[in-house]
Amino acid sequence: MGLGTATTPMEAAAKEPIGNAGRVLAVLREFGRPISAYDVLDRLRPEGVSAPATIYRALKALIDMRLVHRLEALDAYVVCAHPRHTDDVCFAICEACGRVDEVYDQRLCRFVDDWCEAEGFLLSRTAVEFIGTCAPCRRTVVGDEASSR
Ligand SMILES: [Zn+2]
Ligand SMILES: [Zn+2]
Repeated sequence: MGLGTATTPMEAAAKEPIGNAGRVLAVLREFGRPISAYDVLDRLRPEGVSAPATIYRALKALIDMRLVHRLEALDAYVVCAHPRHTDDVCFAICEACGRVDEVYDQRLCRFVDDWCEAEGFLLSRTAVEFIGTCAPCRRTVVGDEASSR
């Protein structure tokens, strides 16, 4: 008795987030590129959200649900590009245009696992980010240099 309304973790994971987490996710999806927690807060102020702690709590919930990733180098958040992967990913960040590519490669996961096991390192999370210039931006720069000659 009284157990009928309990939600199992499995059911919760399969659902779209609700409440503030749902609102934050909608903002991140709308932007489609990494934005800071404060940018999210600015977007949600008209809806009555005014506390940064509310946003950080919602972002943490979304990260735990693997719907959102945090980019350490940018101190920003982005919607996951691969639906609910369980392995770690890395990111390629273009400094010229701000484009971010989520890179998923099992070789990286295997390397991290092997290294941690060999060294006895207890991993809590990984943050691998490649900072540089994306292919389209490189082509633009090369094109400009060629035409100015
Ligand atoms: Zn992802
Ligand atoms: Zn670029």
